[in-house]
Amino acid sequence: MPDAVRAYAGRIAGESPAYLYDLAGLDRHAAAVRGALPGVELYYAVKANPDPGLLRTLARHVDGFEVASHGEAAHVRQVLPGARLAFGGPGKTDAELALGVHRLHVESPGELARLLALGVPAEILLRVNLDVPVAGAALAMGGGATPFGMDPAGVRECLDLLAGRRRVRLRGVHAHLASGLDAGALLGLARHALAFARSLPGPAGLEINLGGGMAVSYADPEARFDWAAYGRGLAALRAPGETLRVEPGRALTAYCGWYVTRVIDVKRVHGEVFAVVAGGTHHLRTPAAKGHDQPFAVLPSPGRGRAGVTGEPVTIAGQLCTPKDVLARRVVTSIAPGDVVVFGLAGAYAWTISHHDFLMHPKPGFHHLG
Ligand SMILES: *Cc1c(COP(=O)(O)O)cnc(C)c1O
Repeated sequence: MPDAVRAYAGRIAGESPAYLYDLAGLDRHAAAVRGALPGVELYYAVKANPDPGLLRTLARHVDGFEVASHGEAAHVRQVLPGARLAFGGPGKTDAELALGVHRLHVESPGELARLLALGVPAEILLRVNLDVPVAGAALAMGGGATPFGMDPAGVRECLDLLAGRRRVRLRGVHAHLASGLDAGALLGLARHALAFARSLPGPAGLEINLGGGMAVSYADPEARFDWAAYGRGLAALRAPGETLRVEPGRALTAYCGWYVTRVIDVKRVHGEVFAVVAGGTHHLRTPAAKGHDQPFAVLPSPGRGRAGVTGEPVTIAGQLCTPKDVLARRVVTSIAPGDVVVFGLAGAYAWTISHHDFLMHPKPGFHHLG
């Protein structure tokens, strides 16, 4: 944990639970990612975290933003007027198809037929789901039957629909096939996506959006995605005249977010120790959604009493009346009532994926640092 985050977390402990976003850290991280991907367009997948402070910080480094709903598009346009938008996601409504974004990622022949019927101009990529191995991925959007994108037969149907059309222009292919992969695995998928895109009777200046999915390790927060190796690999794969684009979410913003809370109770039940903190998975659903222990640090309270434990396995639970409200399980630590607990890797798929209103506890505060 950076010293500035630790100091700030101590200061806001009284108003916890709260999210703390380290914008200076995000700025440095995004600059490093940008620098590792020369010649590649970098978009940010807004669904990972649409916080305006994060978006403004990222805008200094990215070429655009990937949005997946009318709400996200309107939000980014309000926070960053003029930002380039790419719109993807299954089940787009007619209103969403007509938004007039920089790039529209078409998910099916049916969606393309509706777009053509609307008569609006659009620059499109066809989202493909290729029959490629995605073993080892945390989530698979491709490599088998899923609601995302289309198989080669669907792509052929789209090419037939597009024949002779001028208002809707095919720019290339979108392939966000899996997430939670390392650089080598993602480069392997990129090879498949590029081979497929180049096999199409395609436009000059082919664009290939390779999606996001760069791994974040919650078990080993220091193990970072190898952006340099990925950038070198993409540079070697890119053919002259082609545009390669990536749209990471998690691996850009996960590291800049911290969820700060405090211990209300420590108890031993049937031999196991539980620390109950203010808040819980209705603020930070990530560990419940992904089935991991959220990494954390304990900041001992100055007047720590005797009611805690020292060097024992502790399960950290929240305030919800469900056994699923667990943030970390049987992690060896020392903890006492009044201590501050700071959870890391809480900058992506955290607050916005949580079930905020369950049990009607207060919402957390939001603080931006730097
Ligand atoms: C969610 C999503 C991303 C970002 O994925 P991460 O795993 O957060 O990097 C990129 N593209 C599409 C189409 C997505 O749905």
